[in-house]
Amino acid sequence: MTTLRNLPSIDSLLQTESAAHLIARFGRPLTLDALRFVLDEIRIRFKTSPTVDSVSTDSILSQAESQLTAWTNSTLHPVINATGVILHTNLGRAPLSDATIRAMDSVSRGYSNLEFDLETGKRGSRLIHAESLLQKLTGAESALIVNNNASAVLLILSALANKKRVIIARSQLVEIGGGFRVPDVMKQSGAKLVEVGTTNKIRLSDYESALEETIRLSVSKSVTTLVMHAHRSNFKLVGFTEEPELKDIVHITHQYNSILVDDLGSGALYDTSKYGLAHEPTVQESMQAGADIICFSGDKLLGGPQAGIIIGKKVLLDKIKKHPLARAVRADKTCLAGLSATLTHYLKDEAEREIPVVKMMSLTLNQLRSRAEAWMNELGQGLALSNVEVEIESGLSTVGGGSLPDESMPTFLLSLNVKSPDKFLKKLRQQNPPIIARTENNKILLDPRTVLPEQEGALLVGLKKLLKA
Ligand SMILES: *Cc1c(COP(=O)(O)O)cnc(C)c1O
Repeated sequence: MTTLRNLPSIDSLLQTESAAHLIARFGRPLTLDALRFVLDEIRIRFKTSPTVDSVSTDSILSQAESQLTAWTNSTLHPVINATGVILHTNLGRAPLSDATIRAMDSVSRGYSNLEFDLETGKRGSRLIHAESLLQKLTGAESALIVNNNASAVLLILSALANKKRVIIARSQLVEIGGGFRVPDVMKQSGAKLVEVGTTNKIRLSDYESALEETIRLSVSKSVTTLVMHAHRSNFKLVGFTEEPELKDIVHITHQYNSILVDDLGSGALYDTSKYGLAHEPTVQESMQAGADIICFSGDKLLGGPQAGIIIGKKVLLDKIKKHPLARAVRADKTCLAGLSATLTHYLKDEAEREIPVVKMMSLTLNQLRSRAEAWMNELGQGLALSNVEVEIESGLSTVGGGSLPDESMPTFLLSLNVKSPDKFLKKLRQQNPPIIARTENNKILLDPRTVLPEQEGALLVGLKKLLKA
């Protein structure tokens, strides 16, 4: 039996070969911390139960190793998304294209011309980097990239609508998720919210009377107001509803010398209806309708890194770029490099081939079925040993990420009929990398649509392990 007195000393532990390995892997100070931590723990255990089993040098070192691994393991790591939700906000939204990752890698490894003009050798502007791509793709006069779309909305309103009236339809005062409420952000910017219409109906005349009222209330005729149009993103308005077309709202807004800001949310650059989904308003359509400012996310349907993209009239963008908040929410070099690479895919008309999010939407039922079947065949070996029933079922994938509410795409799923689905889901999450699946009718469902091809091997290894156990 070990006693407190013959517990190995730190010095003697440090003499061992295992300790040398730990120091090489984790550094000396942290290894010392871990050894002290483990010894302290043992001393405490001795106090409460002096008859604990013998404590060997080896066991102390292996406990120290577990501790060091726990301390140095990142809490953020890759998972396998088998949920069939393409833009899963909790799972990090859009996976990036190879070219995007390469671009982000190359500017972060070394120095870059982030704010350096290679022509003149003088200070340049970080704002130019994705700007010309966005101009080419959308026809906008000017563009600005910020941290995310939430900060884009806050910045636009702070720069253009502070202390001014901002007119918005009641049906668009939505909460996007994660506590982002359009009315709260509007208030935060110092704008005065003017709600028009009812929850389900808004007419052009509602906009018109609010615009008229603004003119009446203004001391000077030059005070413009702002009309905000926000995409409802995550819910559908159905039934007895009415909403004017954007181009008509723009028209009336301009008649009153006011500005129209369109928060598109997802901001697709392509028509989602070609994948059998509802039509999501595109950036190009908003431009055509005449919106003065348009903002959208980089990591929703666009399929790029987290970013907020603001495009529109140069005079307005110039004002936005000069606002102090612009500095606080600016995009970093990896974002600018990555976003440029993603946008280039659109310019080269190769989005469907290169951008994972678009590729996932474009998968055919035949492709999905053959992947699910390949998984089932591969698992065949393990199944003989367990009593889990495995089938291919038809089911639905969704877009998610606050895009296209209620919209789904037919898919084929690998379905596992296990005894306790919740326990099995938990075991899946304990794999390395963790596998995130869903349950329906007491079955585990895995959707090939959102599993990246390079993760299929790891998925099958994880599943086989669990099915054999
Ligand atoms: C998602 C969304 C936002 C927030 O965008 P983030 O990029 O997540 O900050 C704002 N407005 C609308 C309409 C959205 O759909």
